[in-house]
Amino acid sequence: MRSISIFGATGSIGESTFDLIMRGGGPDAYRTVAVTGARNIKRLAEMARALRAEIAVTAQEECLPALRDALAGTNILCAAGQTAIAEAADRPADWVMSAIVGAAGLVPGMRALRHGGTLALANKESLVTAGPLLLATAAKYGATLLPVDSEHSAVFQALVGEDKACVERVIITASGGPFRNFSLAQMQAITPAQAVVHPNWSMGQRISIDSASMFNKALELIETREFFGFAPDQIEVITHPQSIIHALIGFCDGGIMAHLGPADMRHAIGFALHWPRRGHVPVERLNLAQLATLRFEAPDPERFPALRLARAVMETRGLSGAAFNAAKEIALDHFIAGNLPFLAMAEVVEDTLARLLQQNSLQIPATTLEDVLRMDHLARKTAADVVVSRQQGS
Ligand code: NAD
Ligand code: MG
Repeated sequence: MRSISIFGATGSIGESTFDLIMRGGGPDAYRTVAVTGARNIKRLAEMARALRAEIAVTAQEECLPALRDALAGTNILCAAGQTAIAEAADRPADWVMSAIVGAAGLVPGMRALRHGGTLALANKESLVTAGPLLLATAAKYGATLLPVDSEHSAVFQALVGEDKACVERVIITASGGPFRNFSLAQMQAITPAQAVVHPNWSMGQRISIDSASMFNKALELIETREFFGFAPDQIEVITHPQSIIHALIGFCDGGIMAHLGPADMRHAIGFALHWPRRGHVPVERLNLAQLATLRFEAPDPERFPALRLARAVMETRGLSGAAFNAAKEIALDHFIAGNLPFLAMAEVVEDTLARLLQQNSLQIPATTLEDVLRMDHLARKTAADVVVSRQQGS
């Protein structure tokens, strides 16, 4: 029986993963090692019971008594805190879903790779902050890293059986988010409540807002570079408001392979779950006649500066991805809290990167996890200083 763990089980990707596992036979077909969550203890406990997990872990220390209560009468172990999440990743599992949001997903993913199983990677921040390290760790332990981001799963699928040397370009699609047609003036007044509503995908709060600012696509550009190793000028973004095509590969003979599918993450998760075979996944089937047309347009770099910032990170590499992501997380926290206008998020990230570049800290290669975590910490502090300077008008 295959063993699995789900990190970030209570989130949007975690729920979709749980759905596929339960439809696939649940505890009769899979042995669940660990499930983790944060504040939604009721749901975490329900999942742990349904899957008969060995251990349930909450990221929040203060939620441990509630988790113990919710799992009373079972023999499921309970734990809390970031260290406990990392330790849960030390428990061997054949297939691990990495679906914690943000840089917090990096350490558990790195630890899980050491068992040499499969890491299904929804947590794009792991690749953005520590791409070379993650790939080297997977290679060292003979682990398989599979992309779960829809665009990267699409690229992966379109590349099966192909010679990467014959790839001219990789095109990832962007929906353009809810503000695709907003003017710069309209974008000044965007609220978190507006930004969290995505036109096509149902996702967690943070990635939804990142999609609206196109910071999500910026992370995905870097993710594409790190995961597949293509040069920055081979990787393009095209706005495709319908989110039907997820990525396209252009080959040296002029042919293009496109990956199409409904906007349902269970396709990419299911692909990673069944890999290297294909299994049945209960997503809606596309009706092409009903779709009739597929629309595309070039993204506007002026209204979506995150894309330009990502290009610089793709060139610099080193620790710049860790800095970029950390600064973006801080800017996003401030936007959600109502302390920072929507367009100012990119300014905070740009100013943070400029300050760190001046200190010559970005070009340093990400050789160890400690280097990455140190940069994550430094960039968060620098970004917080940038926000304070803005608020003081200096
Ligand atoms: P979400 O906010 O819905 O869920 C996040 C999960 O992580 C929850 O279980 C939450 O309890 C847990 N969590 C939050 N903060 C944590 C912390 N500090 N430590 C430990 N656990 C923590 O997020 P999501 O939309 O499911 O996204 C998860 C990851 O997948 C993100 O990296 C996102 O970019 C990526 N992703 C999501 C989608 C999608 O459709 N939702 C698509 C592609 C990629
Ligand atoms: Mg995506």
